[in-house]
Amino acid sequence: MSTSTLIINCGSSSIKYALISDQLDTRISGLAENLGSEHARIRGMTFGEQPLDLSLPYADHEQALEVLLQRLSQHQPTAIGHRVVHGGTLTKAELLTPEIIQSIRQATPLAPLHNPAHLIGIEATMRLFPELPQVAVFDTAFHQTMPAHAYRYALPKFLFSEHNVRRYGFHGTSHAYVSERASQLAGAIKHGGWLTAHLGNGSSTCAVWNGKSVDTSMGLTPLEGIVMGTRSGDVDPSLHQFLANNLGWSLERIDKMLNSESGLLGLSNLSNDMRTLVEASEQGHADATLAIEVFAYRLAKSLAAISCGLPQIHGLVFTGGIGENSAYVREKTMAYLPHFGFSLDLEQNKSLPRGTEGRIDQGKGPQIWVIPTDEEGRIAQETQHVIRHL
Ligand code: ADP
Repeated sequence: MSTSTLIINCGSSSIKYALISDQLDTRISGLAENLGSEHARIRGMTFGEQPLDLSLPYADHEQALEVLLQRLSQHQPTAIGHRVVHGGTLTKAELLTPEIIQSIRQATPLAPLHNPAHLIGIEATMRLFPELPQVAVFDTAFHQTMPAHAYRYALPKFLFSEHNVRRYGFHGTSHAYVSERASQLAGAIKHGGWLTAHLGNGSSTCAVWNGKSVDTSMGLTPLEGIVMGTRSGDVDPSLHQFLANNLGWSLERIDKMLNSESGLLGLSNLSNDMRTLVEASEQGHADATLAIEVFAYRLAKSLAAISCGLPQIHGLVFTGGIGENSAYVREKTMAYLPHFGFSLDLEQNKSLPRGTEGRIDQGKGPQIWVIPTDEEGRIAQETQHVIRHL
């Protein structure tokens, strides 16, 4: 590899990493996991497809990053790109300066599970590699082009003006990547309207017009919107009052239930994993069948709703672990969307090899694509863009 960018995505006890060459054609990736525990380890690949498996008992984020960089330094990373979930109202990727780090800290109440872990990673890499330029790439930034009528809640104005209560949206790097790729594939670069469905453990939809996000399903936090692995998506806001009055639940209990015990897991009472649910449904598990149906119906409903942000629909893109791999979920979703002229080609949908790019409509009406997402590649590109314009 010539020169490269190191991409880091820090969670509370894990670090996903990828080293990507400047031409984006060579990459190695891996995961440091169980950090802080006796089972801390790094697993991944080195060049030549050699597996890397290092046990690092009780290593913390900083120790794991130090070992990682020792291993990767021969590949000359020239910059580090950090994935950061919440950038508040920051509109683009930013070079990490004390002011930008302060903005990430200020956005912590809006992403209490994610931003503190990102800050640990950022502070560790700043201490370890002060000479390398470092960039934060935000999940929220792509959606900062939403108009006020899409991002404002119908709540008292002071909550917005004094407390930043508004819709932000997430998965921005994925929606940006797949909509741009779809425009290229369709020969309509930068022009046109795309609906994108990122369906993983967390899931969201987005409406993109001429390369800009105009609406998305997630809101103030990644809980709003469609059904996810363990997250409920939209519920009646009075549910909190109902559960407090009738079950005596605290706000913390309700928040945990909505984030960790709901979604596909809650509906099926079986699993948050779509593969498990599809298999169970085939064997007659009624709750798994219902969970998939609710998932597909609510997804179709969200796509129809945010299409209001688009003057015209060129096409729809499925991405994320479920969107890329499950022909069954794509078919179920499109069955609820007989509108706008969509017509799924059932055979092409079924025969598209898992995890590959391909078009699955009948050649009339808006196009339907499956495009594997590349959040890491997009973060590398955005990092390089910031560095070039320093
Ligand atoms: P994350 O949001 O954690 O990055 P992914 O994008 O990897 O998640 O998506 C994980 C989801 O993709 C899981 O629900 C998994 O079951 C689902 N998935 C992966 N492969 C398939 C498949 N062949 N059929 C159905 N679902 C799949």
